[in-house]
Amino acid sequence: MADDKQEISAPVVDVNDPVTGHVISTTIGGKNGEPKQTISYMAERVVGTGSFGIVFQAKCLETGETVAIKKVLQDRRYKNRELQLMRVLDHPNVISLKHCFFSTTTKNELFLNLVMEYVPESMYRVLKHYSSANQRMPLIYVKLYTYQIFRGLAYLHSVVGVCHRDLKPQNVLVDPLTHQVKICDFGSAKVLVKGEANISYICSRFYRAPELIFGATEYTTSIDIWSAGCVLAELLLGQPLFPGENAVGQLVEIIKVLGTPTREEIRCMNPNYTDFRFPQMKAHPWHKVFHKRMPPEAIDLTSRLLQYSPSLRCTALEACAHPFFDELREPNARLPNGRPLPPLFNFKQELSGASPELINKLIPDHVKRQIGLQHFMHPAGT
Ligand code: ADP
Ligand code: MG
Repeated sequence: MADDKQEISAPVVDVNDPVTGHVISTTIGGKNGEPKQTISYMAERVVGTGSFGIVFQAKCLETGETVAIKKVLQDRRYKNRELQLMRVLDHPNVISLKHCFFSTTTKNELFLNLVMEYVPESMYRVLKHYSSANQRMPLIYVKLYTYQIFRGLAYLHSVVGVCHRDLKPQNVLVDPLTHQVKICDFGSAKVLVKGEANISYICSRFYRAPELIFGATEYTTSIDIWSAGCVLAELLLGQPLFPGENAVGQLVEIIKVLGTPTREEIRCMNPNYTDFRFPQMKAHPWHKVFHKRMPPEAIDLTSRLLQYSPSLRCTALEACAHPFFDELREPNARLPNGRPLPPLFNFKQELSGASPELINKLIPDHVKRQIGLQHFMHPAGT
């Protein structure tokens, strides 16, 4: 979770375990002559329990604002990597950190509290809602949600250089009113440095890229693209595409659809993997994976994301430009209730380095006219 020495720069407050109804107070400011301010949070309910701690919904008593607080046990010897990363993240499709503080318990355990904007739903719950009603998610939402996941990933991968490493429906939050999507949970995320090895035992099973199953340690951010492809397929199908029961079973599920990887594909995934003994299976055509009326663009995008060779998967920004998302770029595009779409085209640094053709596709003509084309031809502000 962390690799360098701990150095506590956030305030520490002394509280017992947060339980519903408990008030936690902390102070901010006080540096460089800034006035000190007290912030108090009333814990309202637990919204998530994970391997690393709990997440609860809380209300700020001074502002009335609802927040989510992720409380994780802090090893005093290390800095918390999740906090280091969250401090620099700033994108409409990535959860934002508002504030953080440490707290201690009577047992003298140290906890880090990450105070985030609160988003009421997760993609996981939205999916469950449709599947329990025996319905498929309407395509317009599939487009809206996956487009925003890719936009968030484009920012993480190309601007911050960070790989999320645990993308799955549970870690994608959805605002049910605006349909804005935010990637959350940076507990496994890491800045990947070319040539440096990383652990391969990350990412949740159904969403794990095959190179991780093959034990690769020099993978790239394209492992997130694989996960996003699995999420897209799951939204289209109403159930996970590759529901493996264990690591080997996971590979079998992938092989049932993509066919047995060729020697060359195995080499691309993990050059050290020699222990490969799997039945020879032919690929199952993508159009047979989905129902008959599935639009060809949906199938085309899925097939471009779910490739054995990591370098053949499209990038997050290329995915955003795919024709599957053209409907979102139409001048009259609206939510089914007639309200406007959430912001989809307010790109910043994500576009520096993209080709003029790609930029041209990503910014719809009606938006270009609004903001002025010049702005997009020099995205770096040069
Ligand atoms: P873990 O590392 O335990 O998986 P997460 O950061 O994924 O921790 O949080 C666990 C769950 O808490 C999420 O799946 C989500 O349901 C909920 N959650 C996390 N962050 C927020 C937030 N900002 N707003 C609302 N719910 C959240
Ligand atoms: Mg999580």
